[in-house]
Amino acid sequence: MIGERRPGVAEEVGSGSLRVRRVLAPNPSALTERGTNSYILGAGAVAVIDPGPDDPRHLAALLAALAPGERVAAIVVTHAHRDHSGLAPALAAATGAPVHAAGRAAEGRRPEMEALAASGLAGGGEGLDHGFAPDLRLGDGAVLEGDGWRLEAVATPGHLPTHLCLDAGEVLFSGDHVMGWATTVVSPPDGDMGAYMASLDRLRGRRAARFLPGHGPEIADPAARLAWLAAHRRAREAAILAALGPRPLTAGEIAARVYTDIDPALLPAAERNVLAHLIDLAGRGLAATPDPPGIAARYRRA
Ligand SMILES: [Zn+2]
Repeated sequence: MIGERRPGVAEEVGSGSLRVRRVLAPNPSALTERGTNSYILGAGAVAVIDPGPDDPRHLAALLAALAPGERVAAIVVTHAHRDHSGLAPALAAATGAPVHAAGRAAEGRRPEMEALAASGLAGGGEGLDHGFAPDLRLGDGAVLEGDGWRLEAVATPGHLPTHLCLDAGEVLFSGDHVMGWATTVVSPPDGDMGAYMASLDRLRGRRAARFLPGHGPEIADPAARLAWLAAHRRAREAAILAALGPRPLTAGEIAARVYTDIDPALLPAAERNVLAHLIDLAGRGLAATPDPPGIAARYRRA
């Protein structure tokens, strides 16, 4: 069954004594691959990690995946994007389980990112879940336990300031921070490239043999994937630096030069990724802009 990944069908993806069921949500798109992966961790008193989009079909599929007598003891959300958190209120209402997460959608931005948001730059594409509010907040290192499972929260800002990975020992639930099929959207003002790179480093040395991501297939070699992702971003950064000269350019102008290998539908996301790099480069003294914060800001080499 592993690898089949059809919407609504519970698949066993655990390791050894750790039971994990994956239920794919019916929300395929250019940003979600085949859809959001929701996970049911343990057996008996289980945790649901990332309930997924607010869709009654997916709620029914999650409840149907439980064995008779099982109950949801905890709902854990990696981050407040609607494709991960949207179903949390309905699942909580159906099961009585509390919702755990690091925080709300727009929390935790650096002042520089708040200034960007104040310029009118809204989140890019994926949809902040502005109504999302956890019942209980998971700080970095917080531990949740149930029947046959133990989860440690690992703060991994970058995709969102309040993004969490969840380390279950044998496996690590990597949300949208590390995915098997595509790189993570890092879209200011909520995405922060410097934080994202530091969060990749944070996952090195975790003992999980596999990562189970929010989208796409499992990651069988996490160390190699982390190394590749970091190298990929450094290569993009080098290309952006190479495109920067004395004449200032916008993120969109740079994206059109640097991203020659992607689906045109993803170019707006690429523009945001470039802006994320430019903000990070400016913070490190390698780029500069004469303009106020915003998507139209032009950057030159510092
Ligand atoms: Zn996301």
